[in-house]
Amino acid sequence: MVVRKIRYRLGGFHRDYRSIIPDTFAALAETYKRAALTEVNGYRKEGDRSLGFTDNGNISLNLHWFSRPIGELQKSALEGMKHGIMGVPRWHDGMKEPAHLFTHEFGHTLEYGLRNRREFRDFVETKFGETRREPSCAVSGYALVNDSEWLAETFAASQLAGPLTTGMRQAKELAEFLEGI
Ligand SMILES: [Zn+2]
Repeated sequence: MVVRKIRYRLGGFHRDYRSIIPDTFAALAETYKRAALTEVNGYRKEGDRSLGFTDNGNISLNLHWFSRPIGELQKSALEGMKHGIMGVPRWHDGMKEPAHLFTHEFGHTLEYGLRNRREFRDFVETKFGETRREPSCAVSGYALVNDSEWLAETFAASQLAGPLTTGMRQAKELAEFLEGI
């Protein structure tokens, strides 16, 4: 298989992130070779306080957060869990920032890399359907939004969440499925 070269465009990022970002994504890409991650970059948009997004193989992180010391993001994320601000669903209990965000976004590039595999699409459809019927199966509230977010959230949980987190059965099933594909 072709080894993908990931491009990192980290101008404008705080130095706290300069090695965490390449280290995190390189480790994930090494294990999950079917992910279609091509680039990690930063953006700024007036009034936008979201953390980031993924467009096909590109992960874009909001410099509103990532130009500042990592402690600021961690503090806001913890407050968000308590008070429900920042759009962070309270379920993200076992998953800390920014590890959760990075792994979640990587999950989207994995989905992009596997999108043409029938067995992958069937697996996600089946499992997301199960989650919709029985929301207590979900790793987080955000996993109920749609099948893409189900995949990204469940992937993040499979990498990061502790054994007591809700939804661990699905996280384990996903991890096993990805090993075999
Ligand atoms: Zn997402």
